[in-house]
Amino acid sequence: MKKQAPLIDPFLRPITYLRVSVTDRCDFRCTYCMSENIKFLPKKDVLSLEELDRMCTGFIELGVKKIRVTGGEPLVRRDIMSLFERLSRHLNSGALEELTLTTNGSQLAKHAKTLAGFGVKRVNISLDTLDADKFARITRRGRLSDVLEGIAAAKAAGMRVKINAVALKGFNDTEVIDLIEWCAREDMEITFIEVMPMGDDIDDALRIGDYYSLLDLRDHIAKHFELRDIPLRTGGPARYVERIDNGQKIGFITPLSHNFCESCNRVRVTCTGDLYMCLGQEDKADLRAALRSDESNETLVKTIREAITRKPKGHDFDYDRQNVSGKMSRSMSHTGG
Ligand code: SAM
Ligand code: SF4
Repeated sequence: MKKQAPLIDPFLRPITYLRVSVTDRCDFRCTYCMSENIKFLPKKDVLSLEELDRMCTGFIELGVKKIRVTGGEPLVRRDIMSLFERLSRHLNSGALEELTLTTNGSQLAKHAKTLAGFGVKRVNISLDTLDADKFARITRRGRLSDVLEGIAAAKAAGMRVKINAVALKGFNDTEVIDLIEWCAREDMEITFIEVMPMGDDIDDALRIGDYYSLLDLRDHIAKHFELRDIPLRTGGPARYVERIDNGQKIGFITPLSHNFCESCNRVRVTCTGDLYMCLGQEDKADLRAALRSDESNETLVKTIREAITRKPKGHDFDYDRQNVSGKMSRSMSHTGG
């Protein structure tokens, strides 16, 4: 591996965390993420597994220490285990400290053991409800039992599991305490996510109605458990509280009600190779063109370096009464949430 000067952005934040979307496809159609009739990208537009490996390797040469594979649903991409296998060489060499993924869990029962074998020690699983009917409704086509099997398989393979739940008013607000208690019993972390205004083809009115401020959610949880704020930072936007009775940590990702940008160490690459320096801004760099322009990683590295000089200080999402301002035209399934 070539040693390179590390990536430092104009605000002196070292870039050490890459989230990479490996597909725009998914076996679910969560109502806040994808429309029912979403059109997926032609295959030629999506980075091949070889290109994904080259791209990740380029970032690792530039000092990235943690890679999160996401999507769409990463585990529906054909032969995705071979990407994990390739990337595991960087874990073995010590150049990469963590390789992980965010998944809906539907295919995890099949892949958990293999992933663990390739050095994946932790997995984030998105699950908004423990009610099978509500689960079918929010995902439009998922089965809760598949996800629960996936969770069990991940734990059996020795992986730590974190549950990510999108907080939706009128949907799972009444289940929050049950979700927390379930995670405590199952020895899993839990993080709640505020719904974000993303995607062109999702009805704004629906998502504004669904918006549940995590400040309100925290107040609700505090009525059931005594909480204290803890300074735990995982390099991401989550803030944590701890239950005083049992030490359980509860995370909150509040991109809308708090600005978390000052400690941002991450960039995202879509499955088409667009590098977004900020989740909440449109500026991007075309890594697919860089990857396809020469076989060495020279153009790629140059393009990444140049892009990082344009990483903005922060984003400007805001729910302004009934209007979504700073709304992004790309959805989470495209950017890789
Ligand atoms: N399919 C995988 C999954 O669901 O975990 C990985 C990709 S998904 C886009 C990543 C995360 O983004 C999930 O936790 C999902 O709940 C979240 N997400 C999707 N759309 C969102 C939105 N509009 N606001 C907030 N979170 C969203
Ligand atoms: Fe698929 Fe994940 Fe989006 Fe749900 S949140 S539709 S599982 S990509």
